[in-house]
Amino acid sequence: MPLKIIIVGAGIAGLSAGIALRQAGCKVEIFEKSHFAAEIGAALMVTSNGARVLSHLGFSFSAARAVRADTWRVMHGDTIKPIENGTVDLGSAERQFGVPVWSVHRVDLHNELLRLATTEKGHGRPVQIHLASEVVAASADGFITLKDSTRHTADLIVAADGLHSVLKRVVLEQEATPPLPTGLSAFRFLIDTQALLDSDALSATLERKGTGATLLADTKEKDIAKERHIMCSEVQNFVGIHPTREVVDDDADATKISMLQEFNHFAPEVLEIMAQSSNVKRWPLFIHEPLTTWFKGRVLLIGDAAHPMLPFGGQGANMAIEDGGTLGYLFKGVEDPNEIPDRLRLFELARKSRASRVQVLSKVRASREKEVEEELRRYADPPGSSVPTNMIERTVHDYGFDVFKKCDEVLNSYKDELVKQNM
Ligand SMILES: Cc1cc2nc3c(=O)[nH]c(=O)nc-3n(C[C@H](O)[C@H](O)[C@H](O)COP(=O)(O)OP(=O)(O)OC[C@H]3O[C@@H](n4cnc5c(N)ncnc54)[C@H](O)[C@@H]3O)c2cc1C
Repeated sequence: MPLKIIIVGAGIAGLSAGIALRQAGCKVEIFEKSHFAAEIGAALMVTSNGARVLSHLGFSFSAARAVRADTWRVMHGDTIKPIENGTVDLGSAERQFGVPVWSVHRVDLHNELLRLATTEKGHGRPVQIHLASEVVAASADGFITLKDSTRHTADLIVAADGLHSVLKRVVLEQEATPPLPTGLSAFRFLIDTQALLDSDALSATLERKGTGATLLADTKEKDIAKERHIMCSEVQNFVGIHPTREVVDDDADATKISMLQEFNHFAPEVLEIMAQSSNVKRWPLFIHEPLTTWFKGRVLLIGDAAHPMLPFGGQGANMAIEDGGTLGYLFKGVEDPNEIPDRLRLFELARKSRASRVQVLSKVRASREKEVEEELRRYADPPGSSVPTNMIERTVHDYGFDVFKKCDEVLNSYKDELVKQNM
């Protein structure tokens, strides 16, 4: 009999896990509170580490209209000129790690994941997705309760219910350390490339910005608390990090005016692009410390529910994808529910140090890795091994990770453990 698995949340983590677990032979149901109508219009970078997993799951980058990101460069925000040693060739990431870096609209990524999860044609049984099904409680014994009071049981509950996870409190004996405000927020907007190309002035700016991902930094500001920067990717997705200001979040016009004021010392061309934007969103940014454990009984946390992070490094969604791929790899062919505790232990071994390092790194922007070196060492794997201390090492650390190799490593030591126990 296949394992019956319930996933809570059909975001990037929940869908990646759903696909991987159906392909591993499990019977999967996902309960999602929304109707998907509110999928945020923004873009994401799927870096080599995440793209490796998606390729393994049969994800079609062309169906998701993903664009290859060839360069990652840092420029002065006030002049749009490159800073010295501030360019990383992402094409070399592809040569080095065997997998490219992609820029993709979040909604396209989500739609392609949804197709893979539910298609009749894929490996295993299609995932059954229940929309408008908010989970209000769960038990470590293996059941969830929906808002309409119905109960559903499973061999394993995977909580992929995001940053404000309801199921986190089932797993943690006590409340996790409350999130610390960074004092920073992110303005976020997408702009149609054609709108930029249609204007002579803006198409020239687009050319100067270059292809791939570009960080326009506030290089004259020495006070980190006041730091502002804009991250823009190939699909013209802008993320403007800035000290938090008072804005009414649901007033899009006020948010846009606030953004223009906040970045008024940036190059006029950048402000002109901002002036063309619409539907600007704003996110306050919080620091979340790594959790002590990710599972209890039959409930496992993944994605942002397990390791929410700041946007520096652009790894939140990539970690969610790595989690999903890992689950499928470790549960492949498992049919005996008695094996679940060992598999969850292996999952933590494969994922916890890795995601915690990335979570710690996400507190600092590129080239400030030294500031978190001591904290990173707590999650070195194996203990005592080196941790990234500069932008290049961080890129290799984040993008170069092969989650399946790590799974093989933990599976092999598990087999050795079993052999020793039986001797
Ligand atoms: C400004 C910003 C920029 C970012 N840029 C990047 C980037 O470039 N690259 C990158 O890798 N990451 C990026 N991220 C991070 C990334 O968006 C998240 O890490 C990722 O979406 C986490 O996926 P998830 O599935 O765990 O959570 P979510 O995407 O939040 O999904 C959770 C799902 O669970 C559902 N849900 C919640 N509660 C319940 C419930 N009680 N019952 C049922 N369903 C429920 C929700 O409706 C949702 O569908 C960025 C984030 C921010 C804020």
